[in-house]
Amino acid sequence: MSTIQRAYKTELDLNNAQITACKQHAGAARWAYNWGLQRKQEAYRATGTSPSAIELHRELNALKQTAVPWLYAVSKCAPQEALRSLDTAFAHFFRRARLQKHGKLHGKLGYPRRKNRKRGLGGCRLTGSLVILPGAVQLPRLGRLRLKERGYLPADTKILSATVSEQAGHWYVSLLVEHEHVVPENTGPVVGVDLGLKRLATLSDGHVEENPRHLQRRLQKIKRLQRAVSRKVKGSQNRKKAARRLGTHYRHVANQRANTVHQFTSRLAKTKSVVVLEDLNVAGMLKNHRLALAISDVGWGAFRRQLTYKAAWYGCRVVVADRWEPSSKTCSGCGWVDGDLTLAERPFRCENPARPDCGLVLDRDLNAALTLAQLADSSSDSLNACGEDGSGQRQVALVKPSSMKQELNAV
Ligand SMILES: [Zn+2]
Repeated sequence: MSTIQRAYKTELDLNNAQITACKQHAGAARWAYNWGLQRKQEAYRATGTSPSAIELHRELNALKQTAVPWLYAVSKCAPQEALRSLDTAFAHFFRRARLQKHGKLHGKLGYPRRKNRKRGLGGCRLTGSLVILPGAVQLPRLGRLRLKERGYLPADTKILSATVSEQAGHWYVSLLVEHEHVVPENTGPVVGVDLGLKRLATLSDGHVEENPRHLQRRLQKIKRLQRAVSRKVKGSQNRKKAARRLGTHYRHVANQRANTVHQFTSRLAKTKSVVVLEDLNVAGMLKNHRLALAISDVGWGAFRRQLTYKAAWYGCRVVVADRWEPSSKTCSGCGWVDGDLTLAERPFRCENPARPDCGLVLDRDLNAALTLAQLADSSSDSLNACGEDGSGQRQVALVKPSSMKQELNAV
């Protein structure tokens, strides 16, 4: 038994007065975030250190009485939590800077930047007296807000915080709750997962998860809507309307993509005891413009993140194979590495001179997935008892895992 934190996000059904109040709260949060960022930068330039969220909040409270009295109209949580988020943003920035110093990060550092209404209204996080009612939530200052979906939010749980946010004209509430959680016994097989662009994923048990390509499918329409926006006069009502239509379309794509990834990661975490993935440098690959759209459409980053936390819930173990182990170039039958395998080459053909008896010819992605699955077997000392069931899965060619690892290490 352990306690886990889990967020429940659902859409709000607001009237006009409530929308105005929510916009005010989001505006206060944005303002406080930007103000805090500026204060931190000024202080850092002057003294080499910057004030913490608590110090900034104290300063802001004094300011409320003189310069920004309109902050009294919103819950005190909105600016306070925004300042806390700013601290978190800086903590992440410094963590990534440290990683980069040690050569472990290739992506962006993500220095906190100013929030802007044009990039989305954002939202605000509230704490304190939060109540879940049937069909509604009750929040400080915002009062009782109706939900579009009944019965999704859990009853009788401890609520840590509520975040109200906007996306393309729709308002959502996300509740962070604390659960008592028992990790179930997971008796599923070991599986290697080869992530791809053409197919979302190929599993070592032969299952193929197709890539629905939500964005690509709607690309024409989106391009048309984008042109419609850029043709309208800047600042005009028509431009706003066109931009809203485009936003709605993007939101739809985002929802579809989230749904696909959520269903897939849930299924993996619930039915497999060990999932072996390859460590992909997603940020680096996004720099390749020809791949960028396809990759962001697949949602690999979300995949890794979701799989990791869901695995913890369902007693599944996620193994990330090192990047220097080229699963797509390694024969899953004998461990031979095809040094000059090109991207275009499919299927995989084993031409190991030392093992002419292998002669494996296999779908390239399936071969990679099988290689990954074997890495879990060989590198694992903490493999649970159920994990051994994984050896019973469909395998095209069998090989002693130990010899396989040695060969891989020799690469
Ligand atoms: Zn081979």
